[in-house]
Amino acid sequence: MRYISTRGGIEPVGFLDTVTMGLADDGGLILPECVPDVSGKLDAWRDLSYQALAVEVFKIYTDLPVKDIDDLVRQSYCAFRNSEIAPVRECGKIHLLELFHGPTLAFKDVALQLLGNIFEYRLSMTGGQMNIVAATSGDTGSAAIHGVRGKKGLSIFIMFPDGRVSDIQEKQMTSVFDESVHNLAVKGTFDDCQAILKAIFGNLEMKRSCSLGSVNSINWARLMAQIVYYFYSAFRVMERTGAEKVRFSVPTGNFGDIFAGYLAAKMGLPVGRLILATNENDILSRFFNTGVYRRGEVHPTLSPSMDIQVASNFERYLYYLVGENPVCVRNMMESFAQNGVIDLNKEEPVDPLFSAGSGSVADTLRVMREWHGAYDVILDPHSAVGVHCAMKHLSDREPMICLATAHPAKFPGAVEQALGSPLATHPVIDKLKDLPTRSTTLPADVEAVSEHIKTIVEADSAAGK
Ligand SMILES: *Cc1c(COP(=O)(O)O)cnc(C)c1O
Repeated sequence: MRYISTRGGIEPVGFLDTVTMGLADDGGLILPECVPDVSGKLDAWRDLSYQALAVEVFKIYTDLPVKDIDDLVRQSYCAFRNSEIAPVRECGKIHLLELFHGPTLAFKDVALQLLGNIFEYRLSMTGGQMNIVAATSGDTGSAAIHGVRGKKGLSIFIMFPDGRVSDIQEKQMTSVFDESVHNLAVKGTFDDCQAILKAIFGNLEMKRSCSLGSVNSINWARLMAQIVYYFYSAFRVMERTGAEKVRFSVPTGNFGDIFAGYLAAKMGLPVGRLILATNENDILSRFFNTGVYRRGEVHPTLSPSMDIQVASNFERYLYYLVGENPVCVRNMMESFAQNGVIDLNKEEPVDPLFSAGSGSVADTLRVMREWHGAYDVILDPHSAVGVHCAMKHLSDREPMICLATAHPAKFPGAVEQALGSPLATHPVIDKLKDLPTRSTTLPADVEAVSEHIKTIVEADSAAGK
C-alpha cells in the first residue's frame, strides 16, 4: 500500500515512511492511496482471534513481512489484561465494547502500544534516534508514554494543558521519571497545545534536525490499529444476535476513533450507522447536522478527552466527502484557518451514514446513574456520552455497539458526582497515589516550546544518546 496526502503535495510513500512522517510534509493528513474492499473476506475473518484479525488488517495496509507483523501484534497486545483484548458485554439493548484493558486504561492503548513497537522496529533497521512530540487532552499522553518508554532510540515530549487534565491523567504522565520522558505543562487549552504541535511539525527544518515523530491521531498507524476492533466487535455481535448489520456509537473528540469506524465501513464491514457523540464541545455534531463547521470556545466538561473544538482528523473525512479532491480540501482548510468556518451550504444532514448528537454534563451523570442501577456497570463519563446518544438511535434490526473508551477509575470525580462516592477502582490507579511527579511549565508559545525541545535534543545528542 502507498500513502498520499489529503492536500496532494507529497509523492506517494510507503507505510513505514508515513508512520515516521506523522503529519504530511505539505501540512495535510496521510491516507492510503485506496481503501480496499474486503467484503469477500468477512467469512474467513469472522472467527479469528483479535490478534489474528489485526494481522489480516495490517497485511492490507503495510508492506512488512508477515512474520514481522505477527511479532509486532503479539508484542503490542501482551500487556492487555483481558485475553480477548476488546471484549463485548451485553447490557440491555446495548453491546458495550470494552476498550480499556490496556496498560493505561483508555482505548488509546490499543493503537499506542502498537505504534511504539513500530517506531522501534523502524529504528532497528535505520539506526539513530527519534524524538516523539505529542499534545494530549488527557489520555493520549500516558498511553503514548507507556507505548514508547524503554524502547531503544526513543524519547518523548508530551504537551498537556496545565490544570485542564484530570489529576489522575496528569499523574499517569508526570509520575514517569525515565530520562527519555519529558512532560510539558502548557499554559493554555488543548487546542493551543495542538496548534503548537502543528506549527512544530510544520517547521520541516526542525522536524528533520530533531528527528521528530508523532503519536497523535494524525498518525496513520493509530487509525489502522483502531479499524481492527470495529471488525472484531461487529463479528461478536452478529454472531450473538444473528443480525446482518450493526451500528456503532463513538464518543468523539478529535474524530480519530470514529474515522477508523468510517474506514471499516468503507472496507465493506456492514455498518448501518455511525453515531457521533460529542459533549458540549459540539463542533462536529453541529457539522454533521447542518453542514457548517465553525470553531467555538472550549468548555470544560466531565469528559475532558473530548473537550476539543478543532478535530485534527476531520480533514481526512473531508477528503472523501469532497470526492477525493486535494485542491478542494486545501482551499477549505485554508479558509477555515482564516475565518474559522467551513460551510458546505447544505440544509440537510451531511452524510446518511452518520447520526450526530451531543450529551450535556447532566445527561452524562444521568446515564452513569441509570447504568449503575440497571446493570451494575460503572461507565466512565466519555462512554456515558456515547451511550446517551446511542439511546436515540436504537433499531431492532441493527444492534448497537457502544464504544467504552476508558475505565471509570480514571475519572473518580465524575463517578463521585454521579453515584455519590468514587466507587470505581483499579490497581493501576491506586498505585499512583503517593508517587512523586515531574513536569516543566511553559507558555502557550511555539517559540518557547520549540526552544525547550531543541535544547534537550541537542544535549542528548551531544551526550551520545
Ligand atoms: C481520546 C478519547 C476520546 C476521543 O477520541 P477521538 O479519537 O479523539 O475522537 C474519547 N474517550 C476517551 C476516554 C478518550 O481518551
